[in-house]
Amino acid sequence: MKIYNTLTRRKEEFVPLEEGKVKMYVCGPTVYNFIHIGNARPMIVFDTVRRYLEYKGYEVNYVSNFTDVDDKIIKKANEEGVSAQEISERYIAECKKDMEMMNVKPATTHPLATQEIPGMIQMIQELIEKGYAYEVNGTVYFRTRKFGPYGKLSHKNLDDLRSGNRSLLVSGEDEKEDPLDFVLWKPKKEGEPAWSSPWGEGRPGWHIECSEMSRKYLGEQIDIHAGGEDLVFPHHENEIAQSEACNGKEFSKYWMHNAFLNIDNKKMSKSLGNFFTVREISEKYDLQVLRFFMLNAHYRSPLNFSAELMQSSKASLDRIITAADNLKHLIQNAKDDSMTESELAHYDASEAYVKKFEEAMDDDFNTADAISAIFELVKYLNTHTGPENTKQYLQKCLERLKTLCDILGLVIEKKEDLLDADVEALIAERQQARKEKNFARADEIRAELLAKGIILEDTREGVKWKRA
Ligand code: AMP
Ligand code: ZN
Repeated sequence: MKIYNTLTRRKEEFVPLEEGKVKMYVCGPTVYNFIHIGNARPMIVFDTVRRYLEYKGYEVNYVSNFTDVDDKIIKKANEEGVSAQEISERYIAECKKDMEMMNVKPATTHPLATQEIPGMIQMIQELIEKGYAYEVNGTVYFRTRKFGPYGKLSHKNLDDLRSGNRSLLVSGEDEKEDPLDFVLWKPKKEGEPAWSSPWGEGRPGWHIECSEMSRKYLGEQIDIHAGGEDLVFPHHENEIAQSEACNGKEFSKYWMHNAFLNIDNKKMSKSLGNFFTVREISEKYDLQVLRFFMLNAHYRSPLNFSAELMQSSKASLDRIITAADNLKHLIQNAKDDSMTESELAHYDASEAYVKKFEEAMDDDFNTADAISAIFELVKYLNTHTGPENTKQYLQKCLERLKTLCDILGLVIEKKEDLLDADVEALIAERQQARKEKNFARADEIRAELLAKGIILEDTREGVKWKRA
């Protein structure tokens, strides 16, 4: 199996540090709002990487953090007049609902930055002791030039960085020894959450969070570190500097980065008005369609989101679902005999598509080609199954199709439809919850219904609902 490694800019054979095991860290979102569909790309892509590694028999320890202390969270908390913790807890809960609807598996551990402050302080202290960090007026900086290989991930040259950085100097940062030095600990500002430390009250810099949480939950060396391509510099470059300076070992063997998602060929941004949250998309589509759409491109290619592409993804996914439905129908009415010679031969022949699927995935997770292999299998099954076949054969065919879809996290079993009465009952319960100001339960019911393809609309005449 080959993985493209940002560090070496080459596809490399994957060799884990420990046989049969993979330690993987994926930088998670900053939780100050509902996640947007750009954030969904690394979630879906790296969940698929994990699923494929598990299919290959690896035990995957998958860690993905939530950044729950940050300027944007504090700003939102001040706007709403609530605590930063209330904001982050709210959006972590919402993010987990979105992940479930996208069939993204929960990580082995989802650490929260605010719960890991003592470890971060410890790591900063180790860096100071080793001469890689220094404190000025309550701020601790990393001494970038002291870490010789700095720039190895982003392939940047320190002197170029220096000239580029000069104009970026902001007030208060002139106390740094070198403009390239970055913050490990910053002092408290009025109205901000803070923790006590040997350098006074304050909070950690963003980069140190991941170095510490990765070390705590996975150890000093890991196999794969991943995130969106915007994280290569400075976030991952700085993580490498901190971790390797502190631990004296190579931090991660493979660095994987997904390309960006654009909307109608433009960068997604609130000011351009082309910004979609995952939740908004879930009101129009089953999020399986979003997942299919994301995986229909290679993760290192820029991906363009548009209504037309989503429609065509929906139609494509429906073809697979229909094939599975037809098989299920045939199974219900099939005779319970053992497989015939010719069925055995057909089943064996269909293995060629599994091989094709695996070859695509072994080539740096080429999910686009893997999906093509699934369509070839669908075509083969459509032409080689019928009412004359035995139950055993049909079941094995359906199993084969489901196995491949499951590696991509695509659920092809049609969800059982909720009866109208069930929907009405849940809506009544939601109204009651709202009356009692139990908004958490009310939101939960809305999400539960959404996951089952029921869209609620609060209107002046009351709650209206429709099927997606
Ligand atoms: P953030 O909350 O901004 O730190 O982002 C969380 C994750 O989403 C990171 O891995 C980002 O690289 C990734 N990400 C953010 N925007 C996009 C986008 N438009 N396309 C793909 N990935 C993105
Ligand atoms: Zn990170």
